[in-house]
Amino acid sequence: MKDKQKALLLIVCLLIFFPLARSFRKKEEMPQNSDANTSSVEIIVYNTRENVIKRINLEEYIVGVVAAEMPASFSSEALKAQAIAARTYALGRAVEKYGNTRINHFGAHVCTNPAHCQAWIPKELYQTWYPKSDVDKNWAKIEQAAYETSGLILTYDGEIINPLYHANSGGITEDVQEVWSSVNSVPYLQSVFSEGESDYSSFEKKVVFKGEEIREKLMKVYPDIVFMGSISEDMEIIQYTNSQRVKEIRVGSITVPGTKFREIFSLASTQIEINFPADDEIEIVTYGFGHGVGMSQCGANELAQKGKDYDYILKYYYTGVEIEPLSDEIVLKFGN
Ligand SMILES: [Zn+2]
Repeated sequence: MKDKQKALLLIVCLLIFFPLARSFRKKEEMPQNSDANTSSVEIIVYNTRENVIKRINLEEYIVGVVAAEMPASFSSEALKAQAIAARTYALGRAVEKYGNTRINHFGAHVCTNPAHCQAWIPKELYQTWYPKSDVDKNWAKIEQAAYETSGLILTYDGEIINPLYHANSGGITEDVQEVWSSVNSVPYLQSVFSEGESDYSSFEKKVVFKGEEIREKLMKVYPDIVFMGSISEDMEIIQYTNSQRVKEIRVGSITVPGTKFREIFSLASTQIEINFPADDEIEIVTYGFGHGVGMSQCGANELAQKGKDYDYILKYYYTGVEIEPLSDEIVLKFGN
């Protein structure tokens, strides 16, 4: 065979077999980010700040969520873990895996209220948050975390998960069913220890209330409540969850769930200590910030600083999950 013919045959063979060989690569040899083209996937976002609904490219949206949810000073692997959790959260809502959230969002998949869905911020607003010299550097670091994990989501048993997360767990995360009584136990949302969180400002908060304030706030919610005496006589923690959060607290004649008590007094968490510094005065010390379920953002940063990657961090907080590329089914569903 002449050299020219040999070269031609080699090219033909390469054209046929190279794509086949590529599709048979083992999963662990696959690139870290998804092969799925997510450029056509758009999330419908209800911007509660401006009261407008907007379609945003998925990955652009994720950059804005990470920027709003986690400080850019956090380690890159923590930012990547946050990006994957945020992507999973948004897509889980978009495919209506976790209820029909569109009803609460005027048809949008998610809103930008962190107390309801997850926070999001556009770069124009982010620029007003940081000194000019830091904005581009911070934004680029966040963009890198989002794009390096592009298209990756969390699954359990092949299903997209509900990746709840919070700022600081106070040292231990919570079982999901302790926070939402209507929810049964979820295997990947179980309590785990979370080290190093006391170094963050969100770890401990103290608030002081006069007995009168306590009574007033409770009477608005429980009009039939009867108080017995001073606040020290009227208040007693009667049950804790396994993670030492308040499950039930007796106030006067009634028993209030810890989560309700947190809501009424706008407390940082339900990991509570109560002291009575003066007559008819109460000091409430809370540990951690947020509901405490799923990934702790401060804990994620601690693990990242110890050299753990996003894969380790996510699997630490979400027991038994896998990190997988977005399925073609979801890509097609949201394609234009
Ligand atoms: Zn929402």
